[in-house]
Amino acid sequence: MIRLNGKLVADEVRAGLLPRVQKFFAKLGRAPHLAVIIVGDDGASHVYVRNKKLACESIGLQSSIHALPARIKQDDLNKKIIELNLDPDVDAILVQFPLPAHLSADEVLDLVSPHKDADGLTYASLGYFFAGKAVVRPCTPAGVMTILRYYQIPISGRKAVVVGRSNIVGKPMAQLLTDAHATVTLCHSKTANLADYTREADVVVVAAGRPRFLGREDFKKDAVVVDVGIHRDGPDGKLCGDVRFEELEGWVSAATPVPGGVGPMTIATLLENTCLLAEKRARV
Ligand code: NDP
Repeated sequence: MIRLNGKLVADEVRAGLLPRVQKFFAKLGRAPHLAVIIVGDDGASHVYVRNKKLACESIGLQSSIHALPARIKQDDLNKKIIELNLDPDVDAILVQFPLPAHLSADEVLDLVSPHKDADGLTYASLGYFFAGKAVVRPCTPAGVMTILRYYQIPISGRKAVVVGRSNIVGKPMAQLLTDAHATVTLCHSKTANLADYTREADVVVVAAGRPRFLGREDFKKDAVVVDVGIHRDGPDGKLCGDVRFEELEGWVSAATPVPGGVGPMTIATLLENTCLLAEKRARV
């Protein structure tokens, strides 16, 4: 079984971005700039934001963190987004989710300009994406496609199953696999007899958000399994995915581990999206 090493692929993606950042700098006298909005004091969200800042620094991207108080009013959050939409020195914007309960994620997803949407997840961006006209693609599914391409996993003409239909992962994942000419079945919590579908597939992407949910018996021999899930499981809080990875050896042909699979690719794709948006705006 090939262990699909997302960390390795993410390092390659970053290395490929370095000369693009330098070229941008040479033309504009500044690096592409990602602005991150974080609201409130959620510890995990602050860790994610810090990691994104460090990732930006690792390839010379400029980042700015806009930390807003937990009690901020929706109007004030909206004003901040509009200000960043209009700021000529900001190329990409990311609003860290989840937001405090009194704030509307819908309003945020309606407000960030699709020309600056680093995650590719606003409603306008998803519209462009599903119409095949997007500059950037949602980070996690785009990262999965980059791993599959890196390891030269054949997709065209093959049967793929995606488990999970969220706007963040499942639906855009199914679209990207369709664009790559797979025949795709999208499964969800109301799918009857899920294993009837997953066992038929050459490629299975699991994004159900259920710890250690699928194992060897759910996949056909020599399938390719991509595990998007990420959870802290058990008393020691070890990271695990939606798939029981240890059962796959000797059965499937390739699989992503958790950690070290899809996760690093999500951040690498965020950096790539920031560069793409900056290059498009500056016509570099
Ligand atoms: P959501 O909770 O938004 O969606 C989960 C999807 O799985 C839903 O469509 C749901 O179906 C489906 N589902 C739930 N239970 C079952 C079941 N028993 N059988 C089949 N389908 C089921 O999660 P996300 O898409 O946001 O995330 C999925 C996982 O990926 C999570 O573990 C999350 O932490 C992880 N993740 C990892 C990232 C990374 O960078 N590695 C990035 C983003 C997410 P229904 O629609 O019917 O409710």
